Amino acid sequence: MRTELAAAEALALILDETLPLAPESVDVRAAQGRVLAEAVVATRRIPPADNSAMDGYAVRRADLGAASAERPVALRVAFEIAAGGAPQQVLGAGEAARIFTGAPIPRGADAVVRQEDVLRDGESVRIPLCPAPRENVRDAGEDIEPGQLVLEPGTLIGPAHAGMLASLGRSVVAVHQRPRVALLSSGDELVEPDGDVAGGRIVSSNSYTLAAQCREVGAEPVYLGIARDTPEALEQRFRGGLRADVIVSSAGVSVGDRDYVRGVLTKLGCELRFWGVRIKPGFPLAFGRLGGDAGALVFGLPGNPVSAMVTFEEFVRPALRKLTGHRALFRPQVRARLAERLAKKPGRLHFVRVVLEHRDGEIVARSAGNQSSGALLPMLRGQGLLVFPAEASELREGEVASVQVLDPGFFDASQPGF
Ligand code: AMP
Ligand code: MG
Repeated sequence: MRTELAAAEALALILDETLPLAPESVDVRAAQGRVLAEAVVATRRIPPADNSAMDGYAVRRADLGAASAERPVALRVAFEIAAGGAPQQVLGAGEAARIFTGAPIPRGADAVVRQEDVLRDGESVRIPLCPAPRENVRDAGEDIEPGQLVLEPGTLIGPAHAGMLASLGRSVVAVHQRPRVALLSSGDELVEPDGDVAGGRIVSSNSYTLAAQCREVGAEPVYLGIARDTPEALEQRFRGGLRADVIVSSAGVSVGDRDYVRGVLTKLGCELRFWGVRIKPGFPLAFGRLGGDAGALVFGLPGNPVSAMVTFEEFVRPALRKLTGHRALFRPQVRARLAERLAKKPGRLHFVRVVLEHRDGEIVARSAGNQSSGALLPMLRGQGLLVFPAEASELREGEVASVQVLDPGFFDASQPGF
């Protein structure tokens, strides 16, 4: 087992152990937010035929060469084509066909004139202009041609993808399974939110933050409850998670007398790949695999509420994204200008909870407050984690630093943008 790794080394070891989960078939209506596990190749042409972009009249341009506002040309309305119709007739010289949006263009016609531009007069229509070639005509196959690779594996399915899949005749699609994540908390001091907090007990908030972090990334949390601080209790809870894709525990993974997580994992046959990452918060992170090559990935997260959240964010979340089939595993990163000086000892990479603000076309960052690993409030006040590199000791006011944006709401706008 390796110890005291740099953050990037720890992440690389984790991602090396992580492969996308097998595909499953889902209804396209339920595929929103899932990741495609197949290549989607078109087997049909969209649109299937040349069709009208407007309600109006299909015409032959040769009839209208001399048309002008002063001298409109009168054409006989020979037939009518509705959307969904199939024109049998060929448009002859001196004829127009009444046509509606989406209806197929009849043979012989080479443009459509909008109905707003003409004067209908009984069985004939007077046209005061000559349209451009194929004006108001949508070409067969202008969106999709048969054989075209439309969606690549690894594509995140959104509304347009759902519509495209449906248009291609696909109501069922292969996506990667969602990871099932067994979550367990440990500690004699912990109770559930409705429990009695007399005598210095505290609520197991990690059970809530970690479950929510799982859901946010599209994984399914399975809560294994709170284990008391005994090896037996911990072992029993860990066994409850053996069939999950990932097991995430929090607390009991440091060097205290009652920190049994590593010992219990070893006893269960877990090969720990590493323990201890040179980061703050979250140094005592442990990672391994339980139950052989196809077994669950195990993350022993530290217990402090911010340490648990940050190590989940930095190490568990990318692994869950990879299991889910995503190609981009990480949060958006922005360059932010510091509104204040930050200082630390060199040696560990710090993830600083920061408040972000758009100001004069830039993003400005300042500390979200108490940087204690036990203080959860700055996690919800802040929108991001500023990456304070391991060997740096100071970031000056006005300097620019890299920030991972955790809150997608940071990019929400109060103005419409038009
Ligand atoms: P430990 O790693 O067991 O020493 O725990 C470190 C700190 O995290 C202690 O102050 C614990 O009380 C706290 N802690 C552990 N588990 C949880 C949890 N599930 N929810 C909130 N705080 C926790
Ligand atoms: Mg403890």
